[in-house]
This record gives sequence, C-alpha cells and structure tokens, in this order.
Amino acid sequence: MIDCILNFLFPVACIICEAQVFERHYSVVCPTCWDTLVPITPPICPQCGMPAAAIEGPCLRCRTGENIFDFARSAVFFNDAAREIIHHLKYADRVSLAGPIGTILREVLIRERFTGDLVVPVPLHWKRRRSRGFNQAELIARELGVQVGNNIIRRKKNTETQTGLSRSERMKNLSAAFELLGTVANRKIILVDDVLTTGATMNEIAKVLKRGGAKKVEALTFSRVPDSINGL
Ligand SMILES: [Zn+2]
Ligand SMILES: [Zn+2]
Repeated sequence: MIDCILNFLFPVACIICEAQVFERHYSVVCPTCWDTLVPITPPICPQCGMPAAAIEGPCLRCRTGENIFDFARSAVFFNDAAREIIHHLKYADRVSLAGPIGTILREVLIRERFTGDLVVPVPLHWKRRRSRGFNQAELIARELGVQVGNNIIRRKKNTETQTGLSRSERMKNLSAAFELLGTVANRKIILVDDVLTTGATMNEIAKVLKRGGAKKVEALTFSRVPDSINGL
C-alpha cells in the first residue's frame, strides 16, 4: 500500500522513453518499452539456442564440437531496448532492473527445461567489480531462485572489453582468463550473464568447469546477439 502511494506520488521516468512508471516491479522501464523486447523463439539450434532459418538439428558450430557448453538459451534479441536496459543496469547503477530481468529469465529456465541446480554468474575481474561496485550477472543470478555459487570461477585476466573484436580475437583474448576455485565434480551448472555475443566467454568457462569434472554446463543469458547482426 505504502509502495503504491509512494510510486504514485513519485513516479520514475522510463530510461528509454521517459514516460512515467508507476509500478515498482517494472523498475525504471515502462511496460510499453518492456514490450518492445523481442523474445527468441524457434527455429533455433537445439543445443546453443542460436536463431536459425529452419529447424534442422544442431548448427554447424555445435555439430563440429566448437561449443563446449551443452545447452544455451537467451530470453530476447539484443535490440535497442535490450541494449538500453543492460547499459543502465551495468553503468548507471539501475540495479533494480535485475528484478524484472530475473522474472523473464525464470520463465525461460522453466520453459526450456534447464536441469542445472547450481547457478554460476559469469565473473568480472576484481578490479572491474570494485570500480562498478557489483557484478550485474550476479544480481540477475540471485533472482532465479536456484542456489548461486559466487566463488566457483574467478576471472584472473582483466580482459579488455570484447566489443568490436572478432570471434577468433575474442577467443584468443579470453584464453586462460578463468580459473576454477570451487568444487564442481558431477555438478550440473547454469552459467548466467546479461548478454551472449559469440559464446566465447561461456565456452572458456565451460572448458574450466568440465576440466573440474562438471557433468553438464548450461548457459542462460538475458539477451543474445545473433551471428548475422554481429557481422560474423
Ligand atoms: Zn518507456
Ligand atoms: Zn548450435
């Protein structure tokens, strides 16, 4: 009740269109802008979840064993709204956005029948985490209602931002960037992040987890940049 009154008296402005947002569970994005997110629906690759022209079994990358993770799904395409939402979550301290993002991801988790029972957020290097004050993947992970392992994986290399790098450059940049700290033998892990671009980060972490004996590695991200948009 008090929440309702406060929200009515002090509505926040939508970070995308500046319309007033009255209901707190939308965080700082209005319902109309949340609706401009485009869910990723079939046809997709059954393994990595990459949007495909038709359902024809696993994509080339999965068939050739290039993807180390066993399964990946993303909720929405990386369109303008998704980009704004992630940008504000990461760089403008709009941490309440993790709430509605978590709600969207919980639906994907159930619909796509994820089987993992330990959620591992993709870690930031400690220097970046310290300057940002939080890890956005960790905030999202905490909303999923599954056990979260925060000290399973450490990012030991402070890799420069991957934006603008090609797939092979990203892979080179990321090699040996992660280190296993926790025990994952026979565990089924769900890796969580805000966006999946080439999958290079997920693959590097999956490699480390599998070396540690993990039985299965699934990846769940809020948004995804399809290969064609990424220019690869
Ligand atoms: Zn809006
Ligand atoms: Zn695939």
